[in-house]
Amino acid sequence: MTAIPTILLNDNHGIPQLGLGMWQVPNAQAPDVIATALDAGYRSIDTAAAYQNETGAGEALRKTHIPRDRIYVTTKLWNADHGFDGALKAMDASLKRLGLAHVDLYLIHWPLPMRDRYLDTWRALIRLRDEGKAKSIGVSNFNTGHLRRLIDETGVIPAVNQIELHPHFPQAGLRAFHAKHGIVTESWSPLGQGTLFQDATLLRIAQKHGRTVAQIILRWHVELGLVAIPKSVTHSRIRENLALTGFRLDADDMAAIASLDRGAAGRIGPDPETFSMA
Ligand code: NAD
Repeated sequence: MTAIPTILLNDNHGIPQLGLGMWQVPNAQAPDVIATALDAGYRSIDTAAAYQNETGAGEALRKTHIPRDRIYVTTKLWNADHGFDGALKAMDASLKRLGLAHVDLYLIHWPLPMRDRYLDTWRALIRLRDEGKAKSIGVSNFNTGHLRRLIDETGVIPAVNQIELHPHFPQAGLRAFHAKHGIVTESWSPLGQGTLFQDATLLRIAQKHGRTVAQIILRWHVELGLVAIPKSVTHSRIRENLALTGFRLDADDMAAIASLDRGAAGRIGPDPETFSMA
């Protein structure tokens, strides 16, 4: 994709529709991987305190000739830092590691409903946004119940909810809730962590368009109006995952991909209702 489309958030900031996922990218490799991605045309990176590569990401951002305001940086608050004071401190620590004055998007990584602190954490994120340390604030792995509570208690609607989403787990219910409330859906593990590459339906659609399965899946995210953050450290794949123009999925393709929905069994990652890793 030469020009990556931007999606408007409910706070009037824009987010690039494609970004580079950074989970499991070793810190030492992060500068090279990000430099490759920026060179290929990416303008968005998705890191997190938990990924332990914010320092490497910061190094890449200092080295590039691309101005800071042209690169969209997302990071996330880890589970151990929930609570009002914890969240304020965690943001400062992330900014220090990144070497930045602000991030574009700060997310609560997981809701941890069993600890019941996400409301206080969210209040801290509202303050961080007001102070300019995060241009936009959002959440990750929140279900409708958690989102409703945030909105009812604070009146501030998250700009983004970053959730597991791929053809085996398309999350139609949560997407509908997001659409109703003006929350942008961001897909994590958009490629299903590699579990979809041998799927016969996707292989057939890929052959039809003369594209790779990864490109078909990412085009599906784009056509659904989602933000996707595929991860790769392989230079050719980083470029491949951005080359999404020049073809469109038709109604038959979209219906065939919709039939891959496995419901709850399609989930690869943890269930947000029970995930509590500290
Ligand atoms: P993904 O769906 O992006 O799949 C990545 C895997 O697919 C990699 O191992 C890579 O080897 C392979 N791959 C990538 N491009 C390919 C291509 N063109 N051809 C063949 N193989 C290819 O999985 P992910 O890394 O789990 O998710 C992407 C990003 O989402 C993460 O890096 C992270 O930034 C974010 N994430 C967020 C959460 C959260 O809780 N918020 C959880 C998981 C991931």
